[in-house]
Amino acid sequence: MKKNIILMGPPAAGKGTLAKKLLQKYGFVHISTGDMFRDAAKEGTELGLTAKEYIDRGDLVPDDITIGVVNERLHKGDLGNGYLLDGFPRTIHQAEALAEMVKGSSSDIDVVINLECDEAELVRRVTGRRICRNCGAPYHIETMKPKVEGVCDLCGGELYQRADDTEEALKNRLKNYYTQTQPLLDYYDNLGLLKSFDSLKGSDELFEEICEFING
Ligand code: AMP
Repeated sequence: MKKNIILMGPPAAGKGTLAKKLLQKYGFVHISTGDMFRDAAKEGTELGLTAKEYIDRGDLVPDDITIGVVNERLHKGDLGNGYLLDGFPRTIHQAEALAEMVKGSSSDIDVVINLECDEAELVRRVTGRRICRNCGAPYHIETMKPKVEGVCDLCGGELYQRADDTEEALKNRLKNYYTQTQPLLDYYDNLGLLKSFDSLKGSDELFEEICEFING
């Protein structure tokens, strides 16, 4: 089944975990602007180094750069099963540019899935999150503890806290989310594309509900 989907929600609402499950089940092409910027930064390209400056401050990368990256990706000709846009758009300007890019084509947006999560839970999830430095596996100091504290169950790598997962940095990311990204919910609701889900539900139940919605 082909579907073109936008995945939205505040930081740590569970977009990454949900995206992985949806990709496995449906074979969508995953387009994550955050991943593309981080990969470019690792490669040391000009784009990557510029984006890294904004990312490290918890700011949004400027619209013209971000829109350019997505435009190029959408035109690679590999979207036969549809796409899952994760982390884009994040501003009204990006949403309008996306609408222009896909208008009247087979890449037009079918649905926008929004994960809702209250702020206290976001803070709990983000500040307790630990990542394996070696393989990137995620843990949580209360709800997903490793067998040995500070050590990855899968590869024995060291667990660390991302610089932007502190309470201070999260405040900045949330401020950006509320001022720049949240207005997009009304934008897509007015277009009749938005469907919201409660991300506090158990992950299996949530996944089932979302699959039913996608299949329907
Ligand atoms: P993410 O992995 O989606 O949380 O993105 C990590 C960081 O990349 C964000 O905090 C922004 O600095 C940058 N970024 C990702 N997507 C966008 C976007 N659509 N617009 C602007 N900046 C973005």
